[in-house]
Amino acid sequence: MTDPRPARLSALADGLTAAHVDGLLVSSLPNIRYLTGFSGSSALLFATPRDVVLITDFRYQTQVAEEVGQLARIVIEPQSLWTGLWQQLSQLGYPQVVGFESSHLLHRDFQRLLEAGARWQWRPTVDLVETLRERKDAGELGLIRAANGVATRALARTIEQVRIGMSELEVAGVLEKSLRDEGSEGFPFPSIVASGPRSALPHARSTNRVIEAGDFLLLDFGAETHGYCSDVTRTFVVGRAAPEQREIYDVVRVANETAASGVRAGMSGRDADAIARDYIQQRGYGDLFGHSLGHGLGLEVHEAPRLARTADGALAEGAVVTIEPGIYRPGWGGVRIEDDVFLGADGPVILTSFPHELMELG
Ligand code: ZN
Ligand code: ZN
Repeated sequence: MTDPRPARLSALADGLTAAHVDGLLVSSLPNIRYLTGFSGSSALLFATPRDVVLITDFRYQTQVAEEVGQLARIVIEPQSLWTGLWQQLSQLGYPQVVGFESSHLLHRDFQRLLEAGARWQWRPTVDLVETLRERKDAGELGLIRAANGVATRALARTIEQVRIGMSELEVAGVLEKSLRDEGSEGFPFPSIVASGPRSALPHARSTNRVIEAGDFLLLDFGAETHGYCSDVTRTFVVGRAAPEQREIYDVVRVANETAASGVRAGMSGRDADAIARDYIQQRGYGDLFGHSLGHGLGLEVHEAPRLARTADGALAEGAVVTIEPGIYRPGWGGVRIEDDVFLGADGPVILTSFPHELMELG
């Protein structure tokens, strides 16, 4: 496959021209990774239509050479990345108006721009790289697909081992071990294992609560493959499911399936959200679906675009988004079903293959 990075840098160069800046200081590590391939935890990138300079420290000397190669001028800075930046900007000479990422730069570092960097004119920019990241290329799609495979295989292993009397943390341990065994590089976010009434907390932390017969068991977790994430939720019943559990589960299942098959590139995030929300409302559970339908997914587990009541923007063709409707009844329990979906030119492609039917475990 051809190296996607030169095309990304040239798309960024077009964005810089449109934003009327001579260059961009990129301080977001996922943005640096997207543009250059560098996956370390300490770097500043300075990019113009002519020059790309990556500044990092001694710990990454070998890694940066392997990951970035000839794509950028690599500077190993012995003191501080910022000292390196001032030197590089001075050497280049021509940049005058320089953009910075206003969503990512710490205030402390902004002060550096105004003090040590006072000889350049600094201009805030928003989402210049994030907008490019929204459309996934074939390589990225393959990695997100692989991360979904890791997640669903790990889930299949995990549910075989779930028993009444295990704690949420024990189940989380089995899940995270299974994710590692299946090849996940890490955990894009702390795995959520929520049982019984705690399944009504959309962002529960796993606790030492012991699973009882008849509990809902909600697992929300992801895998990571070459930096790209998956984000999957399934809800089970441990023991026998009660009629009310089946009824609510079925509403969420149909909401998920209707939205995943109905979402399209070009649609607004609000209209996508409404597909699931309108159905849940019709069924009488509208007040119990308090979060948005989904979010973009890629190098980060939450990235552009958003599928929400407040999202006016059109969903980009090539985006990967989650579809995750839920119904939460406080004190009783909740159900969420989350799949990752690619918005292709010919319609949506569901990347998460794991059954939707309610399963009784244990
Ligand atoms: Zn999730
Ligand atoms: Zn999610």
